[in-house]
Amino acid sequence: MSANAHTLLEFPKAFPTFGNQFASLGNDFFASVQAQALKSSYLIATNQQLAVELGFDETLLKDDSFRQVFAGERLAPGSQPIAAVYSGHQFGVWAGQLGDGRALLLGDLECKHGNSQVIERFELQLKGAGQTPFSRMGDGRAVLRSSIREYLCSEAMNALGIPTSRALCLIGSDQYAMREQPEKTAIVTRVATSFIRFGSFEHWYYRGEHEQLKQLADFCLIHYFPALQGESNPYQAMLKEIVKRTAEMIAHWQAVGFMHGVMNTDNMSILGLTLDYGPFGFMDGYQPQQICNHSDNQGRYAFHMQPRIGQWNCHALAQAMLPLIGDVDATQEALSVYVPSFEQKHAQLINAKFGLKESHADDDALTSDFLNLMAAEGVDYTNSFRALSRYSQQIGAKNEALRDLFIDRAGLDRWLERYKDRLVAEESNEEERHILMKSRNPKFVLRNYLAQQAIDAAEKKDFSELQRLFEVLQHPYEEQIEAEHYAALPPDWAQTISVSCSS
Ligand code: AMP
Ligand code: MG
Repeated sequence: MSANAHTLLEFPKAFPTFGNQFASLGNDFFASVQAQALKSSYLIATNQQLAVELGFDETLLKDDSFRQVFAGERLAPGSQPIAAVYSGHQFGVWAGQLGDGRALLLGDLECKHGNSQVIERFELQLKGAGQTPFSRMGDGRAVLRSSIREYLCSEAMNALGIPTSRALCLIGSDQYAMREQPEKTAIVTRVATSFIRFGSFEHWYYRGEHEQLKQLADFCLIHYFPALQGESNPYQAMLKEIVKRTAEMIAHWQAVGFMHGVMNTDNMSILGLTLDYGPFGFMDGYQPQQICNHSDNQGRYAFHMQPRIGQWNCHALAQAMLPLIGDVDATQEALSVYVPSFEQKHAQLINAKFGLKESHADDDALTSDFLNLMAAEGVDYTNSFRALSRYSQQIGAKNEALRDLFIDRAGLDRWLERYKDRLVAEESNEEERHILMKSRNPKFVLRNYLAQQAIDAAEKKDFSELQRLFEVLQHPYEEQIEAEHYAALPPDWAQTISVSCSS
């Protein structure tokens, strides 16, 4: 009896069986790897809702087989773990072959959303389950700190309505890895329709292996862009769709004040999902030039650079797809959707943040001037928009929550006069506007200090703060009066938090 058949017998009957769609690409695209389990591991957190959607019923979540599978101790039924190969541009420079150095694809599961009949396949990856042939000098591990940040942020982004990879569960252990100092390790299980990156295409292009390049593109067309297969140039159509999704994803980041931190092409999803959470950050005080990644000395991935870098990355992908598309003009045409897609999505998201339903000629100046007021004093981004959501144009309204955030009250008052005129111009209904704005201006985002509090407690094996924060972030637009303190400005100690590529 094979080891796999043996484990099959011992699993609870209800344990879902994995498929291995990605593996159908063949051996050129990955290496088969077994996970190296962490010593004395324990389940820290499970995302119950996602788990149920993936077919794990509630009794299974309590069964130790669940922990064993996602701790890399046991092979799930059907699972053929693999590490994918890819390459990429890092900080603007061609880096050659990279690949899953600490991620392990277990396979895929069917996912049913709520009561809907729509069934999708989702891939499940362990991050931090040990070395692979692509680990280069790395140990294949992920530290608890960054695993908690990824677990929380994936689900916070999803709840904000931003395309992202998801997180299923978090496994902790008493094993340490060496970083700037010794740190506890963990494994986060992340979930996405696909983890294929821009760098997956670049890999075959730069090796001059166009047969595999075509194979990868055909695989993506069949599984992720089936509607484009009938287009006259399906590869061009696919590039155009990827470019559009990337531009729209970054418009979402800008609107919510999210900084990714490492927008290398190996971290860019071909599905337009926010991927590879590392030294990311949400803006506290608004500073458009903020750099969240302490390893990013040049500020290549500063907040205000993200739209341009997204475009640069799309050019890198287009270069790699050129042999498939076969024509420079057609490739350029696909790339040309980036700017309008970004601008349209961004304007739509920003207008909604200001509660504007119509589009008027001076809107850009009006909204930019509010951001300029914030930037001048570094006023809190999230709280300013949330307070603006409660702005009342009624005579006698004091709007203190908003005015208290600014030192330059006269400047704000002048701006509010213009805002009021603009609202009157579209006969804005105050009650409706408040509802719209509260649904677009989150009260709760994963501020670095909130993540840090959960991490500090978790390092001492207290996971209650992690759980509470996770739940608050599931409903970022709701008032949650009892959770008011999670919307508080960062305390002074938060200024010393430093996040870098080391994770
Ligand atoms: P990242 O900046 O996390 O996206 O990682 C860039 C590349 O380095 C990817 O190929 C990762 O798999 C690899 N990598 C990062 N950290 C480690 C590690 N601790 N062990 C092995 N590979 C790693
Ligand atoms: Mg990466």
